[in-house]
Amino acid sequence: MSYRAILVLASLLLMAIFAGVALFGARMVDDRLQASLESEAMRLKTAYELSQGELEQQLMALAGMVAADSEVIRVLKAAGTAVDSEGKGSGGEQADLLRRQLYQHLRQHWSYMQKELGVRQMQFLLPGSLSFLRFHAPNQHGDSLAGVRWLLRDVERKRAAASGFETGRAYAGIRGAAPVFDKQAAPGDAHALLGVMEVGMAFDGYIQRLSERTAVGFGVLLDPASVTSAMWESYRPPSPGEHPGACCYLLAASRGELADWMADKALPAYAGSFRNDLLEHQGRRFQLIRFPLRDYPGLQDPARPPVGSVLIWQDVGELISASADFKKKAFANLAFAYFVTQLLVLFLVNLSRREWHSQLLRQTARIEELSHQNEVLLMAAGEGIIGVDRAHVATFINPAAEKMLGYAPAEIVGNNLHALIHAQRADGMPYDESACPIALTLADGQMRVREESVRRRDGSSFPVQMTVSPIREGGVGAGAVVVFHDISALKEKEAALTWLATTDTLTGLANRRHFTALLEAEIQRWQRSGQPAALLMLDLDFFKRVNDTWGHAVGDEVLRHFATVLRGALRRIDVPGRVGGEEFAILLPDTSEQDALAAAERLRASVEASPAQTVGGSIPVTVSIGVTLFREGDSGHEAPMQRADEALYRAKQSGRNCVAGDLPGSLKPVAEPTSAA
Ligand code: GH3
Ligand code: MG
Ligand code: MG
Repeated sequence: MSYRAILVLASLLLMAIFAGVALFGARMVDDRLQASLESEAMRLKTAYELSQGELEQQLMALAGMVAADSEVIRVLKAAGTAVDSEGKGSGGEQADLLRRQLYQHLRQHWSYMQKELGVRQMQFLLPGSLSFLRFHAPNQHGDSLAGVRWLLRDVERKRAAASGFETGRAYAGIRGAAPVFDKQAAPGDAHALLGVMEVGMAFDGYIQRLSERTAVGFGVLLDPASVTSAMWESYRPPSPGEHPGACCYLLAASRGELADWMADKALPAYAGSFRNDLLEHQGRRFQLIRFPLRDYPGLQDPARPPVGSVLIWQDVGELISASADFKKKAFANLAFAYFVTQLLVLFLVNLSRREWHSQLLRQTARIEELSHQNEVLLMAAGEGIIGVDRAHVATFINPAAEKMLGYAPAEIVGNNLHALIHAQRADGMPYDESACPIALTLADGQMRVREESVRRRDGSSFPVQMTVSPIREGGVGAGAVVVFHDISALKEKEAALTWLATTDTLTGLANRRHFTALLEAEIQRWQRSGQPAALLMLDLDFFKRVNDTWGHAVGDEVLRHFATVLRGALRRIDVPGRVGGEEFAILLPDTSEQDALAAAERLRASVEASPAQTVGGSIPVTVSIGVTLFREGDSGHEAPMQRADEALYRAKQSGRNCVAGDLPGSLKPVAEPTSAA
């Protein structure tokens, strides 16, 4: 991978990491804002519900207090009787009189309640939800609210105070109602219930006070169905806008924004469940919480739909801007950190690149120096050095190898080395490449040291000590180096030493030590094959006399002559040896006793028939021969040599110039010795 590609990749990776961190951070800030808006929504909804519950309690208590007033009880009791007798509905004169009395009695309380407590509605009803007197609409009476007002019906039925939001004929609001009882009636009397007293409060004042305490906007919207089914037309609330997000009637709002949104059709769509939205209107941003408003019947019967919705809102522009500012600042910091890191990475990559480069230069110089040294060594080495590749083709040759082989470099390099130097073995037999140490090392990667014979260009061969070392490149065999030197002189010296160690210098026959070694090897071979083999022991007759008569040197000449006669009379596989001064032994492999005795006799006769021609003249020689065969129990050379010696002794005893076997009766009768002592 190039330096540029590494740089681009590193930069992209860094950019991706920082982008990831930025996105994650932004997500976290957004989530935090969202979570805080949600908990704020729940807090505001709960605060609203608690405060409505408290208000209902107060209204119930107020209704209960008025219902317990003895003048109220007296008037309602009389009113019930009067309306009954005056034809139901609003009743007649008597009923009117009582209505005026009740109004007079509570007039001051009514205005106090309106002014100081925010009460908007106060009504007295006779049994059967028959409206007797509305303080908020004194001229509207005599109508029945049965079937319209569940709250009133329940108070009458359960004879206990109740509260809740309900839409009435002239007014929709939060109400508290209490039963009015006849205190003088006997307990359990069905007529003891004189009527119901109810007070109510409009949302306006209530949410206005809530709004002032919390700096939050509150509003109530009523659905058209709940309004049109209950309210007299002239008492219905305004309806600033008609679109899917708004319902028709704006019952109350603590701030003007709600009416504006409705008029501008800016309210988000609403389907009746809890919502927590962000609303942008005229450059301002609001959190708008909206949840269903259930009236008193709706709370009694969950199947009834909500009658409208409660809206709570607050300006969250600052909160959102603060969050956005925070994000912007965090992004700026992150971008700065990214640029600094990017610069640092560039700097570090560049620095390490320079370091790599200078290291590379140093290594290259070192390699050049080493290869120069290697070349000098290769050229100066006394050893022949040839390199081969994987295919056994020569790749280089040093001057020493050129000189030894007689090839010019161009004749070796590029050619199969085996074909050139191993055309055949030293003994002239074909040399298969599969047995060649160079080929073996190329195959198995093992170093080899061998003595080999190699061919020169002129076809002659010479022995070498050869070391084949594998060359490995990246863990794979790439060829081999063959190092060799000429060991001809060594081999010659070795051969001379061997000759000296094994040969008798006077006669050229095997010396005693070598002969006994050959004898033992033959015994072992005989033990394996079972083929009979014989040992002959020979001693010249009266040799002392030769020495005494012609001198020691002539005696030596006679000994050499004797050896020559022996060699001429023997087979190629027979082994003669000189085992003493004028004592000889002969090993006859694959020979039976019969043949051995016959061969001994032939020898004896040849010796007798060939006098030695010496400087001192012709000297007749005879020899006595003892014969033995290898036998069961022969393991070393001693036993057969001992037996042959004993047979020889018998031959001497029998007059010399004869052959004797080691078994009784094997003595060969001999003609008269021809040589005279
Ligand atoms: P015999 O028939 O009993 O064998 O009589 P002999 O005279 O041959 O007796 P013997 O075998 O004991 O004699 C060995 C002689 O051979 C003694 C020694 O002078 C002579 N001799 C031994 N080695 C050499 C040698 O290397 N050169 C010469 N010229 N004479 C040797
Ligand atoms: Mg002797
Ligand atoms: Mg002798």
